[in-house]
Amino acid sequence: MGHWLNGEWEWVFKWRRGLRGREVGWLEAMLGELRTKCLTEGRRDRWTWRQDGEGIYTVNSSYLFLQAQNLEEEDPVLKLVWSAPVPSNVKAFIWRLLKDRIQTRDNLCKRQVLTRGEGSTCPLCRQEEETSMHLFSRCAVSNPVWYACFAWLGVFSAVAASPRDQMLQFPFFGINKNQKAGEIAIWMALVWSIWLTRNKVIFQGGAFDPNQILELAQLRAWQWLRAKVDGFMYSWFEWKENPGVCILSL
Ligand SMILES: [Zn+2]
Repeated sequence: MGHWLNGEWEWVFKWRRGLRGREVGWLEAMLGELRTKCLTEGRRDRWTWRQDGEGIYTVNSSYLFLQAQNLEEEDPVLKLVWSAPVPSNVKAFIWRLLKDRIQTRDNLCKRQVLTRGEGSTCPLCRQEEETSMHLFSRCAVSNPVWYACFAWLGVFSAVAASPRDQMLQFPFFGINKNQKAGEIAIWMALVWSIWLTRNKVIFQGGAFDPNQILELAQLRAWQWLRAKVDGFMYSWFEWKENPGVCILSL
């Protein structure tokens, strides 16, 4: 797993196969976490309780920790995430996005995986720092995806600035719970498709084509609704041509 080199621990990982796209990002994030820990040569490893400043487990600290968790679960926006008709890995991603814990370049800089400056520049426009707000709303390269989607849905709107506001903005015409959940699934499909394409641009040198991303998102949302919403039987053609009618039937 590693060795000491001039008083510093150097991690050495051996993988059964080469790492793929997302796995490289996970490794970077893990190394960022590990770098924040200070290892001491000659001292044995030991368990520590992170909810207490002394590192010692106390019932009181665990009670406070669990209470904070419950408060988080009561956040109505996070509740919407868990009830959305989308796959669980997408829910987990959206949850991390809303808490600003995805591996955007500014977050990797905060964890000292990348250095500020060139290391934090948006990989799409190469003009500004890549924050989640930038990537999913303000970036001149990704921004047209939203307007293409608004045109598809037949709505006129500006793009909300933060992912959280976007998610709340997105039920444009849904009235009941299911209709709103269907529109939120479209928003999640867009965000997920932007993120996967952004990773492809970084790790495989792919291109970022807003119309292609919209089509991917349309397809994903349609597949998710077909799989997870009872009675959603619309064909791919009907969904592409008239999403509003499909949503309002939910
Ligand atoms: Zn950008």
